[in-house]
Amino acid sequence: MKQLNGKAIYSPKGKAGEYAEYACNFYVGCSNQCEYCYLRKGIGKATLGGDKPTLKKCFKGEKHALEVFEKELKQNLPELQKRGLFFSFTTDPMLPETMPLHGLAVGKCFDNNVPVKVLTKRADWVDYILEQPFSEREKKMIAFGFTLTGRDDLEPNASTNAERIEAMYMLHDAGFKTWASIEPVITFASSFKMVIDSRHFCDLFKIGLESGKKYDKGLLRRFIDDVIEYTEYFGCKLYFKDSLLKRAGINREDLPPNCVNVNRDYNMFNN
Ligand code: SF4
Repeated sequence: MKQLNGKAIYSPKGKAGEYAEYACNFYVGCSNQCEYCYLRKGIGKATLGGDKPTLKKCFKGEKHALEVFEKELKQNLPELQKRGLFFSFTTDPMLPETMPLHGLAVGKCFDNNVPVKVLTKRADWVDYILEQPFSEREKKMIAFGFTLTGRDDLEPNASTNAERIEAMYMLHDAGFKTWASIEPVITFASSFKMVIDSRHFCDLFKIGLESGKKYDKGLLRRFIDDVIEYTEYFGCKLYFKDSLLKRAGINREDLPPNCVNVNRDYNMFNN
């Protein structure tokens, strides 16, 4: 797979690479202020961890950012058309401050037949999106993802988890693809409830643990079994992250058919 390293579009490495092969970051920082946010911890804290989204320093302004984005998009069209583009690892792309530029970038993706995945903890934009005249072709090219932890107490400025689930329902009902990031799992009970509450209208669950946190192996295995059992009937696809399977002592090749298999060839936009 071609590796990209542009100012806007790049190839995520490590655990992030399990979310997307290609991603776009315009901003750093995020006003949702989740307590467990990886941007606010460790080595990223100094450069990525602000509570206010700020345009990356390599861009002179939003107009310049969009110009750079379009140039990088067009330089890598075959790869991006095949694998899609993810927004975003260093902010929430649906914040009031970040959504306008992301909206313009998504429009460029539509114009160039590049499928798009967004991931957010906000739901206050959904009524606006549902009023827009998306064509059926465009609806098939964007998948709206919501992070669901079930822990509003740790996500003070985000929409509530219940609001995110309601937004998922509305978008799915309107013909869009929807997916959920069940990550980080704070407690098995709260994450399992999120799966149960959204399984009727979620095309894909991506499930991962919190870095550095200790989990009981027996409870983790039971959580995995329960998620598989309670989603199978609804046709949801499950992606368990490598680190979660490793801690549970489960091989990906032993997972049942409703889980992404060892070839990792599941593509939301083709299924
Ligand atoms: S939504 Fe994501 S980027 Fe924003 S504060 Fe929460 S964990 Fe960090």
